[in-house]
Amino acid sequence: MIDTHCHLIDPQFIKDLPVVLKRAQAAGIRKIVNAGYDTDTSSRTIVMNDEYPWLLPAVGIHPNEAAEQSIKEMDKIEAMLTSEKIVAIGETGLDYYRDFMPREAQQELFRQHIALARKACLPLLIHTRNSIEDAIRILKAEGCYHGVFHCYSGSHDQAERIIGMGFYVSFAGVLTYSKRAREIIQTVPRDRLLLETDAPFLAPIGHRGQRNEPSYIMETLKCAANMLDIRPERLEEILDANAMRLFSLD
Ligand SMILES: [Zn+2]
Repeated sequence: MIDTHCHLIDPQFIKDLPVVLKRAQAAGIRKIVNAGYDTDTSSRTIVMNDEYPWLLPAVGIHPNEAAEQSIKEMDKIEAMLTSEKIVAIGETGLDYYRDFMPREAQQELFRQHIALARKACLPLLIHTRNSIEDAIRILKAEGCYHGVFHCYSGSHDQAERIIGMGFYVSFAGVLTYSKRAREIIQTVPRDRLLLETDAPFLAPIGHRGQRNEPSYIMETLKCAANMLDIRPERLEEILDANAMRLFSLD
């Protein structure tokens, strides 16, 4: 199983990372996309990959980080792309829910991530909250159709449109308790579907309010298999093939 979106660089994992990774391997997780959310955590995803080659680095600046400052730091993210280990650009996107940052600055920061992804031929890890329409508009304007809408929270109609553009749609542990997510996953073509934990955030049912971790993805897998009326082992094969294709893994 591949956890396609996780933040093992988060301070919440500093104390017991080796134990968390052992539990992940024991649960059957073979690869984890480890996404940075600012320049410091992004560079740490690359360092972590030296010690744990199965933790795949993704570099980017989250839209909730100070956008104006972040725009000035994009050259640091670009400099990281000399590492051939990087599998994606992100976490990036637009967040109008928390709305910490002016929307125009978020959009400019998102455009810069898109430009980098195109230049490096890497997929985008796209975060949206109440902002899918603007994300679609900007991606179309920039001519970028390569990536995943992570922790999908939009409508059925929006899912259809982003899939039509060529994107993947990923569900996190929210699937285990959200009626809406359960309805939408059933409409996503299986060759465009991914699962993730977004750990340490968004723990699945049974762990809500606690720190999330990669091993819990197996609970989301079981839930998704149930929703889609397919054996978990078979769904895992399909999802892993999708992740390998999107992130160009061997
Ligand atoms: Zn995330």
